[in-house]
Amino acid sequence: MTRIHGDKKLSRRTNVKPKNNYRDYENDLRIDFQDTCGYCGKTVNISKNAFEIDHFVPQSIDASRINDYNNLVYSCYQCNRKKHNKWPTHDANISHNEKEGFVDPILEEYDEHLERTYNGDIIAKTELGNYMVRAFAFDKRPMQEIWKLVKLSQERDRLLNADSNNSEAFKCWQEIALQIEDLLKFMFDNKE
Ligand SMILES: [Zn+2]
Repeated sequence: MTRIHGDKKLSRRTNVKPKNNYRDYENDLRIDFQDTCGYCGKTVNISKNAFEIDHFVPQSIDASRINDYNNLVYSCYQCNRKKHNKWPTHDANISHNEKEGFVDPILEEYDEHLERTYNGDIIAKTELGNYMVRAFAFDKRPMQEIWKLVKLSQERDRLLNADSNNSEAFKCWQEIALQIEDLLKFMFDNKE
């Protein structure tokens, strides 16, 4: 078992310059979330669709936080679509009631409710985790393939930076590149 984000520790810097339109935070979010979807751990380089900016407290619940950096989550298209306007507590100040709701993925608390199996699936550790698994459809989406691709692309980049005269490393790189190509087709077919 591991964390949803693997070794990455996501955060939001506190010194990001305030902006009048949340869309202008995209670069800041990409840096703070390390190119990674806060909710599912997918990386931007393997995603069919462009990443989006999710409002943790939905705009329909709290319009005053639309441009609040601390309310923004770097999110893949699918996670953003699945979460949409869901906010079961209906109270902007209460993100969950232990049974239903959401946890901001930059908090350590996120790991208390969800974990990643060796195969890459995302499973619940708590009742609230179970709600989030269903809300984001982690039980229906191809989480194993997504995680495999995340890992393969990390390995490919590592080999790319390795000694270019090493023919063994180059052979590995070629094999990984082929596996990635196959999996990317699968991702496209699944709109991930
Ligand atoms: Zn996602």
